[in-house]
Amino acid sequence: MNIMFKSTRGDSDHVTASQAIVKGIAEDGGLYIPESIPSIDFPLEEIVQWDYRELAYRVLKLVLTDYTEEELKRCIDSAYDDKFDTKLIAPLVRAGENNFLELFHGKTIAFKDMALSILPHLLKTAAVKNGVNEEIVILTATSGDTGKAALEGFADVDGTRIIVFFPEDGVSDVQKAQMVTQQGANTCVAGIKGNFDDAQTAVKKIFTDNALKAELKERGYVFSSANSINIGRLAPQIVYYFYAYGQMVKSGKLKMGDKINFTVPTGNFGNILAGYYAKNMGLPVNKLICASNDNKVLYDFFRTGTYDINREFLVTVSPSMDILISSNLERLLYHLSDSNKTKAVMQELSESGRYEFNANNEFVGEFATIPETFKAIRDLFEETGYVMDTHTAVAKAAYDKYIEETKDNTPNVIVSTASPYKFAKDVLKAIDSNYDNVDPFEALEILSRVSGTDIPAPIKGIDKKEVLHKSVIEKDALSEFVKNKLK
Ligand SMILES: *Cc1c(COP(=O)(O)O)cnc(C)c1O
Repeated sequence: MNIMFKSTRGDSDHVTASQAIVKGIAEDGGLYIPESIPSIDFPLEEIVQWDYRELAYRVLKLVLTDYTEEELKRCIDSAYDDKFDTKLIAPLVRAGENNFLELFHGKTIAFKDMALSILPHLLKTAAVKNGVNEEIVILTATSGDTGKAALEGFADVDGTRIIVFFPEDGVSDVQKAQMVTQQGANTCVAGIKGNFDDAQTAVKKIFTDNALKAELKERGYVFSSANSINIGRLAPQIVYYFYAYGQMVKSGKLKMGDKINFTVPTGNFGNILAGYYAKNMGLPVNKLICASNDNKVLYDFFRTGTYDINREFLVTVSPSMDILISSNLERLLYHLSDSNKTKAVMQELSESGRYEFNANNEFVGEFATIPETFKAIRDLFEETGYVMDTHTAVAKAAYDKYIEETKDNTPNVIVSTASPYKFAKDVLKAIDSNYDNVDPFEALEILSRVSGTDIPAPIKGIDKKEVLHKSVIEKDALSEFVKNKLK
């Protein structure tokens, strides 16, 4: 079946998967969604025998239907190779009674690598298929992890440039060091004096600024996005939900065909939405537990039906989830209603910062405070020796609350989104108050000793690398900055 994509906010814009990937965001400011969600065309039993690449092909070919078999396989093979430090790509690890799907074995040690290892290949292929001659400029707002993963993915890829904006005071020391030391002639990184929402809103505005786009097209550039607003980010994330299910069955923790829960540490709602697509494609999923940190807009939304960003933006120990405007929720709203309703609701959000939307769905909102997050890390470490990063720990703490509330005994997978080394300072602080004030880079060595694991190669010695990107700009100056960079 051929799947076309349309905007969440209207019905006029119909494009193929590859066109949606090149464009990133729809003309009307909406997000591209598949017109219908395809069902898997293989018996679920088969997934246990497939390796990650094979599974990726079987799943992606159902969604990205205008890519040929040869194109898709080439993209998959170039993405999921020895850039990952395990052949499994996304191993399921058991610690105590918990199942962790570790999505941090790629080059930047966070789950963004799962999609951003393949997106550049999908995008380049798409540009060729659609006769795009301009240079593709990837504009990216990051809460810390997307930026680095996108930089790694696009560095020195012909025909592309990448510009990343991160909140100057809103990312971990390791995250920042990873970004500002990025090599590659086509890369550009700037801190902004604002938070992630400011960066994301400004970037989305550039995408819908027709005058600016026309001017830059004259100069030979078109924009695209590496954020999860791009369907090319979302589609590859569907794969690992199937993969986790297969591994659960293989390890004897789940009977083939039985239902499973996933608990997902959530910010922009991209990761968990991929789980929703997996379910709608035929994966037996019971609940999707959406775990937030203190910026618990989504928790409130799923509990009350009111989405309200009129609140203080809090800086927490899980910075990649410090978000009030979760872009991908728009896609869920569309799937639960239609484009008229979605457009109206998004209009309300931009005018008043709140909206109401009541619908039954399979999501459950939970959240964890900083002390709860720290306690989860410490307790699990003391019980099992397994060290979670701060984001994964939000999910673990949230899941424990969910169990307390519901006594649900459905097998559960906690989606583990980052290596603890990426947030070593806070992880150590959680484990032992003696480490309250360690230097963020010394923390890597200490964590290695305490946990008996090796510092991941990509961040070893990162504090000694040369800083190549020093720009810091005001939050309303993004579009000027972009214009100046693209002379
Ligand atoms: C991006 C990120 C998240 C949030 O994922 P979304 O898709 O934005 O919901 C959670 N944890 C880590 C470590 C991340 O980098």
